[in-house]
Amino acid sequence: MFALDQEIINSLVDEVVKSISQKNQKFIKRRISLKSSENRIVKNYSKSEIGRRGVFDDIDHAISASSKAQELLIRKCSMVTRNKIIQAMRKCSCNLAVQLSSMAVKETGIGRVEDKIKKNYLAANKTPGCEILKPWCQTGDDGLMLTERAPFGVIGAITPCTNATETIICNSIGMLAGGNAVVFNVHPSARKVARFLIESLNDAIIAVDGPDNLISIIAESTIESANELMVHPGIKLVVVTGGPAVVKAAMGSGKRAICGGPGNPPVVVDETANIEQAAKGIIAGASLDNNIVCVDEKEVFCVSDVADMLKQQMFENGAVELSSCEVTKLEHLIIQNGHLNKDWVGKNASIIAQAINKQIPQDTRILLCEVDSEDHPFVQSELLMPVLPLVRVSDVDRAIEAAIRCEHGFKHTAGMYSTNINSLHDMARAMDCSIFIKNAPHYSGLGFGGEGYTSFTIASPTGEGLTTSISFTRERRCTLKDHFRIV
Ligand code: NAD
Repeated sequence: MFALDQEIINSLVDEVVKSISQKNQKFIKRRISLKSSENRIVKNYSKSEIGRRGVFDDIDHAISASSKAQELLIRKCSMVTRNKIIQAMRKCSCNLAVQLSSMAVKETGIGRVEDKIKKNYLAANKTPGCEILKPWCQTGDDGLMLTERAPFGVIGAITPCTNATETIICNSIGMLAGGNAVVFNVHPSARKVARFLIESLNDAIIAVDGPDNLISIIAESTIESANELMVHPGIKLVVVTGGPAVVKAAMGSGKRAICGGPGNPPVVVDETANIEQAAKGIIAGASLDNNIVCVDEKEVFCVSDVADMLKQQMFENGAVELSSCEVTKLEHLIIQNGHLNKDWVGKNASIIAQAINKQIPQDTRILLCEVDSEDHPFVQSELLMPVLPLVRVSDVDRAIEAAIRCEHGFKHTAGMYSTNINSLHDMARAMDCSIFIKNAPHYSGLGFGGEGYTSFTIASPTGEGLTTSISFTRERRCTLKDHFRIV
């Protein structure tokens, strides 16, 4: 990646344009200004990369191609073909799960390959398809009412680096099942793997007679291009998955927006819990993909009576505890000027420990940090790394109150380990989150070892919860007066 002055950019652009065949030239209208040069990369694309299989250099052309593809999907493809398209996308994603996972870790520098493989399979196999879109019919004295779900058209989707390929697989399946096309603007640190995935998905779609470019991507995506995409007149629905800044941008886009925003999921362990189960579940959940998944357990509130027992069991399940002096050292490393130092996001526990001169086994899953109070920055911030703070509390009611405060009203995800049905009920109601998990790792709430379908866009700010093709479609009604009753 490099920044260039305008003259060099212009001459490179000219060369690139000249080198590409007449046929593909229509797709190339690069508008690289000096102002945006910091964010953009000049790259010599091969012919096959531009304007085919979804990869576009330019937002206008991506939307135009996806719009044509969407028209074909609706007008020319039967529901049988649409189902085949979804099946082909699932198969393609499963076939590529291992490769995508290793490419994503290599490119983004965050997470764990073995965990990403599981997440990619989950997205491919448990994202609902067309079957979830049930028509609704009502008959009566006045005749018949039919309600069906219709596509929006072309959706603009912004995706995070934390679930770089999983979100693309999940969003694409849900959006196409609803009859839409989608143009992705992905996190700049995950462009290569995203382009590879989107080309492959388009190949899979074409192979079952679906239209090319149903899924498109802006090749050199930036925050700037994300904002252009969101306000483009060709985009009928904006779907974003990420932190507070992108949610704010989407809500200000003037479009209907579905926003999967940040979280800070607390987990409470009370004195009635099965402690062995709690420790095992919390370590498995909090360490999934080095804690970069938005639902992963981010802080533990444990009733004092059972805290030592919980910690002991956590050590047996892959956690290593930091002393209070080491916690302070780590705080200086990962929180700088009140902000999270992103260099440590998604890194392995052993690498983070090494940075504070602590040697621990390579296979350590979690650095456990007991802290004095909920005010500690490790509790307050969404760290997105395998560093898990634990706070002792006097009783379950205090634990629930602290959990509510530290979730910051995101209403994203929370969990509890307890065998007291009243406590489980009280916390589930009080948290008011899109996902609440009882006695299991938080990823169970994504349908991973838990009941139900999966989603990688959990839209709490806009209220859709775990998004599916229902979220990506409009309700339409047709009324027929007086006829079509058969009784
Ligand atoms: P991020 O917010 O840095 O980036 C997400 C996407 O938004 C990227 O494509 C980025 O380029 C774009 N973006 C960022 N700021 C923008 C702005 N001002 N205008 C336009 N686009 C902008 O997030 P990340 O580091 O990739 O992912 C981690 C965050 O996402 C965490 O906060 C996590 O909780 C959240 N997340 C939420 C869900 C969910 O379903 N609710 C799922 C995954 C991640």
